[in-house]
Amino acid sequence: MVIAHSTIKKQYDYDLYINGKWQPSSSNRKEDVINPATEEVIGRTAVGNEKDVDRAIAAAREAFDHGPWSKLSPKERSAKMFDFYAALKKREPEIVELVIAETGATRPFATSIHVATPLEGLEYWAEAAARNPMTPLPVKVNSGPGGSKVLGAGVTVRLPKGVVGAISAYNFPFFLSLGKVGPALAMGNTVVLKPSPFTPLCSFILAEAAAEADLPEGVLNIVTGGVDVGEKLSSDPRVDMITFTGSDLVGAKVMEQASATLKSIHLELGGKSPLIVRHDANLDKVIPAAIGALTTQSGQGCALATRHLVHNSIKDEYINRLKVGLEKVKVGNPADPGVTMGPLIREKQYESVNRYVQNAVNAGATVVTGGGRPEGLEKGFYYLPTLLTDVDNSWEICQDELFGPVGVIIGFDTDEEAIQIANDSKYGLSGQIFSADVGTAFEMSLKIRSGQTSINGGYGAFNILAPFGGLKRSGIGREWGEEGLNEFTEVKAIMFHGE
Ligand code: NAD
Repeated sequence: MVIAHSTIKKQYDYDLYINGKWQPSSSNRKEDVINPATEEVIGRTAVGNEKDVDRAIAAAREAFDHGPWSKLSPKERSAKMFDFYAALKKREPEIVELVIAETGATRPFATSIHVATPLEGLEYWAEAAARNPMTPLPVKVNSGPGGSKVLGAGVTVRLPKGVVGAISAYNFPFFLSLGKVGPALAMGNTVVLKPSPFTPLCSFILAEAAAEADLPEGVLNIVTGGVDVGEKLSSDPRVDMITFTGSDLVGAKVMEQASATLKSIHLELGGKSPLIVRHDANLDKVIPAAIGALTTQSGQGCALATRHLVHNSIKDEYINRLKVGLEKVKVGNPADPGVTMGPLIREKQYESVNRYVQNAVNAGATVVTGGGRPEGLEKGFYYLPTLLTDVDNSWEICQDELFGPVGVIIGFDTDEEAIQIANDSKYGLSGQIFSADVGTAFEMSLKIRSGQTSINGGYGAFNILAPFGGLKRSGIGREWGEEGLNEFTEVKAIMFHGE
């Protein structure tokens, strides 16, 4: 197999972005960022520490309390958000290439979900920033002294939370970082962003765009780093809200770290979502969706449906057809246009996925296809699309989020059984149902405990107006849509007499 080299045009090299200035980290350390498809170095960033977060929080606090940002009129802030949007939009092709090199995404997926979708979101948030934040309450006539009447009126006002600490995961760096920074800034907050140490480069493009759009000093600050930076950000009393995307285990730590200061918490965590195939499903439609559910971003997507619950009457046919489809997936460097699935993020992720598969096999699972490294790819962290059957939903392979291209097949006989297995999970993020009977599928979706369910492929693409988030260990709160914007505001009631 020929490995195409990454298509980014330059080596990226970033300092931290604090108070509107590029600054070295106080440790003076820098770390390389590698392309998981080739293991080549594609750039480097300063590595921040507690001292740097301290400075960034101070800058964000000052900008919120005394700077102009939170006091701008809705129209003025909206205009600034459109400048920020324009500065990013003109770099869209470059960002796509960087996402491919940094995350291993295929080009069609990097172009659409990774980059076009959050930019579409930013346009929506910039428009939303211009709205009047006040909603009038119905007037009320109350009894006053001596039999008089008192006319009471009032409004609710949506105000910014204040300083927002944003922590993002490695798998969708531009999408996740902009998905936090965009609505937070649009609603008048100031932000300290900590991207994942695996994929920090895309987030610094947000800083360059903020500088170009002339956002006031301290409104957006970016500090890279690991656990120490995340701990400081989530525990500091000057931070009013933490918005976190990552694993449930770290999410629980973030909640604990934030608890002493009782700050607002927004958590977007992991999943192990079901894909339910009823007896009457059209397999011509299901199989491409099932391949996508297992191989998109090499399985490193929170909402991917990796537990396939299939009606026993069609289970054998389903397994055979999915096997054929998965074996046609072209694994390799996504800089090569023919490739349909890229690598895992690092060797450690490969080892973790492989350990789960081996444990399942040792427990009695049958490997229908895949398991291990594809042949002929010496560099990069590739794992074959893998399908397992003869598993029980109670096993770790069915309960834990693997974050790799691995699916399990579990049979069922009745809709009730499918719902019961779907809900027998510590997670509740997403899921899919396929059936010719859309009414029954709709009723089933009401009974599945998750933040979202799509029927027969759903909306067809990511809908920026649909709230996204999870139940149980999949999180707290929602991103996207009106609900996502409201997460970044506090509602306040102001009452007055109509005199
Ligand atoms: P992770 O939990 O390992 O790390 C996430 C972020 O938290 C990173 O920036 C990391 O440096 C930071 N961090 C680590 N320890 C911390 C601490 N003690 N305090 C504060 N921050 C800390 O997750 P990951 O491996 O980067 O990403 C994969 C996970 O993210 C998966 O579980 C996936 O499902 C989840 N995810 C969820 C969504 C969603 O919208 N629900 C989207 C994408 C990814």
